[in-house]
Amino acid sequence: MGQYAIAHPEVSFKLFQDEKMVLSTSGDGRAQDVIASIWGTDIAEQMLEINPSTLGSVTLRGLVSPPNLNRGRKDAQILFVNDRLIENQMISFAIADCYRDFMLKGRYPFIFLFITVQPSEIDVNVHPTKAQVRFKKEQEIFSIVQKTINNILSSPDVRDYAKNSKPDYPINSEELTPEQPRLLQGRELGSFSPENNVEKDTISMRRFQSIGQMDATYIVAKGDDGIYIFDQHATHERIVFENILASRDQGELSVQGLLNPLHINLNMFQLETLNKHRELLINYGFNWDNFGDSTIVLRGIPSDLVESEVSNAFMEILSILPEEPDQDMITESQTELFVDHQERKIVASLACHGSIRAGQRLLVSEMDALLDQFELANYPKVCPHGRPTSMYLSTLELDRKFGRA
Ligand SMILES: [Zn+2]
Repeated sequence: MGQYAIAHPEVSFKLFQDEKMVLSTSGDGRAQDVIASIWGTDIAEQMLEINPSTLGSVTLRGLVSPPNLNRGRKDAQILFVNDRLIENQMISFAIADCYRDFMLKGRYPFIFLFITVQPSEIDVNVHPTKAQVRFKKEQEIFSIVQKTINNILSSPDVRDYAKNSKPDYPINSEELTPEQPRLLQGRELGSFSPENNVEKDTISMRRFQSIGQMDATYIVAKGDDGIYIFDQHATHERIVFENILASRDQGELSVQGLLNPLHINLNMFQLETLNKHRELLINYGFNWDNFGDSTIVLRGIPSDLVESEVSNAFMEILSILPEEPDQDMITESQTELFVDHQERKIVASLACHGSIRAGQRLLVSEMDALLDQFELANYPKVCPHGRPTSMYLSTLELDRKFGRA
């Protein structure tokens, strides 16, 4: 019912359940208002609108969520073809592929897509509960969906912080002089290795300048366009995640030996997983010997892992590996996509257990070093799990709050 209301924002709907009104839409013609009445205004306001695009005889319009808006269930992915609510695996895959840099398998963006095609181009198979549609030109639909969503997700607003939010007049004379270059402090960092930092020589024009830490969890920083608050774990996780993926793609994943080899007890199921995925685990830097029937001795680990987190990470990965593709994933490319997402989940687990935790106190130099690395991230706004890394308050917003603008 909620789904029909979205397709027909021009009609006012009221839905009652147990004599209580659970959904009411005004019928004033805005899809956003319908979304607001179903998912709440908070979500509706953040949704990104697709500029209607046409490819051949196919037209696409709708709204998609920014990556930080996601949930653990697929039920916020609503798809209409010629005004009929439908399901289509291929389109679901196209969507998942667009969001793969922002969220992991098992998280889903909010999607409302309306596709219009010539009726002769589709094959509708109506079930009592759901309608499956097959497109005659599946590849064409796949690429228009993918292209359109990728376009939205690659806009600077989604990928990076709003750079245009700077007020277009100087606040005070200090703002007129460019920031003086300053010497970089030494970076003695335990968990994020300085050698991974991009060489910036000794002079830095920092994008973020850390001011301090809050509750040993959040980093407060100044940028030239406002104030930023970072979740130190999510922020570091994004950096480590991208670093591991980059090393993997260059075939340069590195291993660190454990000074004290770690004995881990495994059950039958875990041992089976370990043997089945032996090559992959070795590739990522794990190195072990069998020790009796149910124990292994870990001697080497991926170099990004924090030593105290090794057994947590290892167990987590052993629980990710046995996941199998859904029954309805039939094509080769769907299976490939599944494998890719599964590997990303493993990398995210390594990143999670290789990152600064909440509760860890940081020096200003450590925070600055972290933010210097963060500045280079490809997808800075969310951690690999789709949690926001940071929030931002522009100078203009501050000025407005204080009645200066
Ligand atoms: Zn995360």
